[in-house]
Amino acid sequence: MAHLASPKYTQEIIKKYGFHFNKKLGQNFLIDQNILQKIVDGAGITQEDEVLEIGPGIGTLTQELAKTAKKVIAIEIDQHLLPILQETLGNFKNVELIQGDVLKLPLMDIMYNKFSNRKIKVVANLPYYITTSIVMKLLEEELPIGRITIMIQKEVAERMSAAPGGKDYGALSVAVQFYATPYKIATVPASVFIPRPKVDSVVIALDILDKPRVEVSNRKLFFQVVRAAFAKRRKTLVNALSTGNLGIEKQEIVNILNQVGIDSKRRGETLSLKEFADIANDIDIQYK
Ligand code: SAM
Repeated sequence: MAHLASPKYTQEIIKKYGFHFNKKLGQNFLIDQNILQKIVDGAGITQEDEVLEIGPGIGTLTQELAKTAKKVIAIEIDQHLLPILQETLGNFKNVELIQGDVLKLPLMDIMYNKFSNRKIKVVANLPYYITTSIVMKLLEEELPIGRITIMIQKEVAERMSAAPGGKDYGALSVAVQFYATPYKIATVPASVFIPRPKVDSVVIALDILDKPRVEVSNRKLFFQVVRAAFAKRRKTLVNALSTGNLGIEKQEIVNILNQVGIDSKRRGETLSLKEFADIANDIDIQYK
């Protein structure tokens, strides 16, 4: 079977079906076999693996996954791609297509009903306009996932893997690192897509932790503290937390920070996950 990951085949099949790219759906199709291979290798797919792919497009990545994995379920929102996918994936008996919006589908039910493994691999060249919402859904719903391997916008990948202190470190870094260990697999130029996106991309893997990286007694409160600290990232921690939505007076914030041994003049952007957890756990004991 010819590789779909080439400008020639991609254009041919698009023309054959009269398909028009929908910019709003983040449709940039991969046309480079080497990058495709890097994604599949980075995902570490074996014959035992069951894979969820988000946004198969014309089935380029799906075909490669199906050649190696035990089973692939691919969720595609765009109905116009279904006839193309029926052609490109028709010969793979281990692929199932679901038409729908990944943000609205009951992923827990899908995973429990359609897969037998409890360490599913998610692999995707994600639509960039909703990358963060998709990743947060996959993480927050605590789905039975072992690893997420995704192509995303370079800047977003940098924010996900940033360490405390830098300009990229923010609420997204804390949220991703709370649930997973991120590591970069490859940097990808815009030239390997049709049409070309305006940004460079990165393939990143998120290895899901068996339990969150830090122990928190109240997860909602932990993320409230994180959001308050980064909402005013130029302010000192005491100012950011006392003017945020926590509803706690400035002097009380000073007391809490003293109790957990954190200098109140520090900025939120310098705090480790453990330090955020210490603050949230202390607030939880005293105020909730
Ligand atoms: N996997 C293909 C590839 O690598 O060439 C296509 C990747 S393209 C960047 C993103 C795909 O996600 C498109 O096919 C788009 O229609 C689909 N998509 C966009 N929003 C979606 C959503 N909410 N749920 C499911 N699929 C979506």
